[in-house]
Amino acid sequence: MDDMVTIRLGVFLTILALMMSLEALFPARKLINSPQSASMATRWLGNFGLLVISSVIARLILPIGLAGFALYASAQQWGLLHYLSLPLWLYIGVSVLLLDMLIYWQHRLFHRIPVLWRLHKVHHADRHVDSSTALRFHPIEIIASLGIKAVAIVLFGLPAEAVILFEILLNGFAIFNHANIRLPANIEKLARLVLVTQVLHRIHHSQLMIESNSNFGFSIIWWDKLFGTYTAQASKPDNQIDIGLTQYPNAKQNAWLGGLLWMPFSNKK
Ligand SMILES: [Zn+2]
Repeated sequence: MDDMVTIRLGVFLTILALMMSLEALFPARKLINSPQSASMATRWLGNFGLLVISSVIARLILPIGLAGFALYASAQQWGLLHYLSLPLWLYIGVSVLLLDMLIYWQHRLFHRIPVLWRLHKVHHADRHVDSSTALRFHPIEIIASLGIKAVAIVLFGLPAEAVILFEILLNGFAIFNHANIRLPANIEKLARLVLVTQVLHRIHHSQLMIESNSNFGFSIIWWDKLFGTYTAQASKPDNQIDIGLTQYPNAKQNAWLGGLLWMPFSNKK
């Protein structure tokens, strides 16, 4: 299990370093430059700060990690999938797909239910989208997500291998699709048949509700297509989409870690 933690961290850091280098070399959009906007350094400090706090709290709540929990659950033979005797590769494949669909619906729920939106808006209040935005989740949202995944593990009997694979993929894809880059047009056209590309995900970060209530997927785009939330094109070109939340125009005020942690409890919607 320790090996898996190392592999997971290695993949995470590799993709993060790769995407941050590409963003520095070929940025798709410029950072808004006004006295009210947060500098890159302030944003990164806040966004990475949230990651550190969330990771520490998650470890305190579930020291064995989700995969450890899955190992325990499968030793007890908990979950529906134990009743089907699937070959291991199919068992893992189905489980990863189930988890991905679950995260799609969880994401929709966090947009739909006001008390959950209070948490998720921390992610959307970022006025710029880059790799660090992929790490910008309120610790309570991370804990809620941990709980939802734990319930799914028990209910479906998801194997530890699938949980680890999914966590690696989810982290990797989230950094990939938040990166401030744009794939070459012909590659983008092909990639968006399967994946949530950067251009597609920036539509989800638009200030327009009709656009942010679409493209909820984190990895494959099929859930949005299947459940009717796919938007292929925003009303503005990709480099002109107004990103963030209209109720948080002053990014500087909220970009520091304390402001981000407090955001769900403030009275703003
Ligand atoms: Zn969202």
